[in-house]
Amino acid sequence: MKTTLSGWGRFPCGETELLPVEHVLRHTGQGIPRGAGRSYGDASFRSKGYTFFTQNLRHFLHFNPETGVLVVESGVTLYEIIQTFLPRGWFPAVVPGTQFVTIGGAIASNIHGKNHHVEGAFCDHVEWVELLLSRGEVRRLVPSEALFWATAGGMGLTGMIRKAAIRLQRIPSSFVWNTTYKTATLEKALEILLSEDEKYPFAVAWVDHTHARGRSVVHLGRWAETTELPPTAKRYQPHPAERLSIPFTPPLRLINRLSVETIATFYWLTNPAGAHLIPYNKYFFPLDGIRHWNRAWGPNGFIQFQFVVPGVEDLLDLWWRLRKAPGRSFLTVVKRMGAQRGPLAFTGPGWTLAIDLPNTEAMRRFLLRLYDHVAEKNGLIYLTKDSLLVPETFQAMYPSWKDFLQQKAAVDPEGRWASDLSRRIGLTD
Ligand SMILES: Cc1cc2nc3c(=O)[nH]c(=O)nc-3n(C[C@H](O)[C@H](O)[C@H](O)COP(=O)(O)OP(=O)(O)OC[C@H]3O[C@@H](n4cnc5c(N)ncnc54)[C@H](O)[C@@H]3O)c2cc1C
Repeated sequence: MKTTLSGWGRFPCGETELLPVEHVLRHTGQGIPRGAGRSYGDASFRSKGYTFFTQNLRHFLHFNPETGVLVVESGVTLYEIIQTFLPRGWFPAVVPGTQFVTIGGAIASNIHGKNHHVEGAFCDHVEWVELLLSRGEVRRLVPSEALFWATAGGMGLTGMIRKAAIRLQRIPSSFVWNTTYKTATLEKALEILLSEDEKYPFAVAWVDHTHARGRSVVHLGRWAETTELPPTAKRYQPHPAERLSIPFTPPLRLINRLSVETIATFYWLTNPAGAHLIPYNKYFFPLDGIRHWNRAWGPNGFIQFQFVVPGVEDLLDLWWRLRKAPGRSFLTVVKRMGAQRGPLAFTGPGWTLAIDLPNTEAMRRFLLRLYDHVAEKNGLIYLTKDSLLVPETFQAMYPSWKDFLQQKAAVDPEGRWASDLSRRIGLTD
């Protein structure tokens, strides 16, 4: 079925033949797997080619209660895993800012969470991956193999992940004990993260893009012990997905200067300093509170700009440049990242900042100039969030791209796996 698809940012779009994943071997043209479509740009579809959705790969296959190793098909989402295993005291070791991502997507982007500085990325907790290659061969890859690390973060370009074994973690409760600091400037927030984040598994700062000095809210958290819960609280309480939804795309952007300032002020006022007990869903996935919230950005969608740079000074320089953006954001988060394996790894050590911005021509021009500054600082743009990177900048940022292509050629000699992202950044035709 021909259809127009986009990622979560609703920009760019492309017309593609959308097929269930069972059709992968029946078609010889170029195509790419698609999970829940939560990557922001054009990584999860192939215009004028095939997009293979994995929604039918929904089975839980095995769980070892001694080790926490769970084997699932790649279309299973983190939400489904949490609903099933949280009541038994288990949680994924790494979660992103939304639980509505598939295991295939989590591995292909090698996603990171608030605990990257201590736990690494998602694939640091993967035992093996079963990969369907372009000629129909199925390979089981383990972390000692280079192809495992080309597939982790490989954006679906080495093959289709069919199954994976992931290690869940035992948690003492489904609440996070979080300490919040409020600072008048971003510099002060970074100082707190630098001195404190190693003591906490979860560490992140929200920065107010509408505020001249970058006032910030720093969150430092850990799983709460049962003794810290109120007597009425259930130890392991899964929360079903919220029903509140934006039902259609409004003709105009609801997120404008006025609403951004209102939301930012609301966030600032409703996050008091001090220690608080927070249910896991509100802590890790606050944006999941409104379904289809991306529609609020209107018909042109939005762009997420996420980079990692080595030093605090690099981060601050980019922040001051971002203050001059032709548009404002209510969602800007900063955290420290560790090092990561893989030729396309989005890796530290360094600092990452992610910001949602309106998709306008002026913004795209502005961001492309910032991409050059990121490259000059030996920084990287996160591929799963990207909509704008061009081949020259990609190659400057990811010097191991040739290694990646060598590994891809060994398992995909015809170059069947290709997305709009891979074409845009010059990795494939
Ligand atoms: C609100 C929100 C918050 C987020 N927060 C974070 C965050 O904190 N940290 C972070 O790292 N990311 C974050 N993300 C990004 C998201 O985690 C990644 O883009 C993830 O890959 C999306 O998974 P998906 O199932 O939707 O994959 P899709 O978006 O459908 O696809 C993403 C990539 O995975 C590939 N892929 C999908 N399934 C398979 C498969 N079975 N086999 C091979 N390749 C496959 C696709 O080809 C594509 O290249 C966030 C996204 C949103 C919308």
